[in-house]
This record gives sequence, C-alpha cells and structure tokens, in this order.
Amino acid sequence: RAKSMGRHTYCIFQPGMGDEVRQRRSLEKDLSDAIYEEQFELHFQPRVDLKTRKINSYEALIRWNHPEKGLISPGDFIPVAEGSGQIVQIGKWVLEAALRASASAISRHRISINVSPVQFRDKDFVDDIRQAIAGAGIPPERLEIEITETTLIEDDSRALSILTVLKEIGVKIALDDFGVGYSSLGYLSRFPFDSIKIDRSFVHEAGRNASSRAIVETVVRLGRALNMRIVAEGVEDTDTLLMLRECGCDEVQGYLLGRPQPVAHLVRAVEPEIMKVLESPDGRTRIG
Ligand code: C2E
Ligand code: MG
Ligand code: MG
Ligand code: MG
Repeated sequence: RAKSMGRHTYCIFQPGMGDEVRQRRSLEKDLSDAIYEEQFELHFQPRVDLKTRKINSYEALIRWNHPEKGLISPGDFIPVAEGSGQIVQIGKWVLEAALRASASAISRHRISINVSPVQFRDKDFVDDIRQAIAGAGIPPERLEIEITETTLIEDDSRALSILTVLKEIGVKIALDDFGVGYSSLGYLSRFPFDSIKIDRSFVHEAGRNASSRAIVETVVRLGRALNMRIVAEGVEDTDTLLMLRECGCDEVQGYLLGRPQPVAHLVRAVEPEIMKVLESPDGRTRIG
C-alpha cells in the first residue's frame, strides 16, 4: 500500500496496526458528530424482583445509531470513547436521557445507568448527578449507578468518598459484572453497595454446571450477610431461573425476562410478558 503512495513514502507501521489506528481515529471523529447530532439512543432492560414478582428497575443501555454503519453496540464504541475522554460527555447525555425517561414513560421504576471509570473520575461527576436529579424532579432513590471493580482499583479512597456522598444523596449503587476482573472480597465490605450483579458468565453456566452454581449460592449468602441485594444478569432460560430461585437470589435480569428495548415498547408489552414467564417458567412451576 505504501508503494501506491509513491516511491518516497515509507510505511513505518505494521499494515494491520495502521488500520486499527485509523479505524479508531475515524470512530472518534464520528463520535464527536454523534454527540452533537444526538445519534445515541437508550434501550431499557427490566430487572425483576423474584419475591414480589415486580419490576424493580430498568437498566439503561446505550446504542449508537450511526448514519452509515447502522446500530453500533456499546462494546464497540465505549472503549474508544473512554480512550479519547468522549465518554464524559456521552455519560452526561446518558444520565439526562435516562432521567428524562424515568420522569415520564417509565415513571414508577428506578433507572440504573452504567458509569465508566473515566466518567467516575471526572471532577464534575457528583455535581452532574445532583443537577440531573434536581432537573428531572425525581427522588434520588430512583437513580442507581452501576460501576465495575475497575472504577475502585485506581484510587479507592477517592472512590469511597464519592460513593459515600452519592449514598448520602440517596442514589443507589450497584457493583456490576461481579466475579470477573479483580473481585476482591475486600471491596464488598469497604464500599456501600446496595446490590451486586453476578456476571452473566457464571449465571449462564449455573443451570448446568455445579461449580458455577456453588459460586452463585456463595455470593447469595455473602449478599445476605452484607445486606446487599443479589442480582443475576444474563438469565436466558427457565432452568437457570428456577435454579436462581432455589439459591435465594433476589433479582434477575436477562433475555428470558426481557430484552433491552426502546422506551416506547416497554410501556405496552413488558410487564404482562414477565408475569407469564414467572408464573409458569416451564409450563408447570410457579416462580415466586
Ligand atoms: P452490562 O452493564 O453488564 O450490561 C449487560 C449486557 O448484557 C448488555 O449488553 C445487555 O444487552 C446484555 N444482556 C442482557 N441480558 C442478556 C442475556 O440474557 N444474554 C446475553 N447474552 N446478554 C444479555 P450491551 O447493551 O451490549 O452492553 C454491554 C456493556 O456496555 C454493558 O455491560 C456496559 O458495561 C456497557 N454499557 C452499556 N451502556 C452503557 C452506558 O450508557 N455507559 C457506559 N459507560 N457503559 C455502557
Ligand atoms: Mg450494567
Ligand atoms: Mg453486567
Ligand atoms: Mg459488562
């Protein structure tokens, strides 16, 4: 390829590497358009309380409606936005859009948003949350933030003070993707989590695999002792749902209960569908 640019052009990068750098640059550029042109959209996925059989909250998950490439999932652009710092602005948009939805269409429920470590580190993070809550005019308890252990590792005393302030305001805090990554048990006693979300890699296996099931049971017991709610993410089939119920898991989330959807779809369809699944997950057994 260097050749086609003329005899005096030398390629100092590996070709593959150059492509990757160029791709990232082009995504960054598209992302800055996306921020101004509001190409993002939030989908919401229900999280269901197994005891009350009610929706406890909705998790907001971002999607990018790229003008040429179509719908891009967060796994493909969040890392780029984190690298460039654009995640801070995107995160503000998510916060506001999620609270707007909470103040209107799905107003009876709590909304959970995912917060990147980079956004969490931003000096305005707590103020942004305060302002967004005040602006939406909702009780602070209706907002939950989901963070992962990566957020805690970098500067855990600062993280502790931010989480403590949020907790005082009344915002709920969840530890996301528990079990993958660093998973220091020390974090569970040091930080004021309201809930722990067991990563779907364990949940997925737990219906069939005894050691995954043992992990789920142990985390549930840990949650009891620490007074934190245990949420299983990625529940896709009824065997897993039944197993989680037996283990005493508090809440479940996953395709079986409902896929992430635009807010307009939720209002109509979701609750009756969930009731059907919980009342007769395998056509016989009642859950809850
Ligand atoms: P997460 O917070 O752990 O979200 C759960 C992911 O699992 C979502 O993928 C969801 O669509 C998917 N999921 C839910 N139920 C099931 C299931 O039963 N089976 C399977 N296979 N998957 C299921 P999604 O929406 O692609 O998001 C991926 C990750 O991107 C999220 O993981 C979160 O870490 C990040 N993310 C999403 N939205 C945001 C955002 O607004 N801000 C930030 N900072 N990160 C976000
Ligand atoms: Mg999450
Ligand atoms: Mg997760
Ligand atoms: Mg995740």
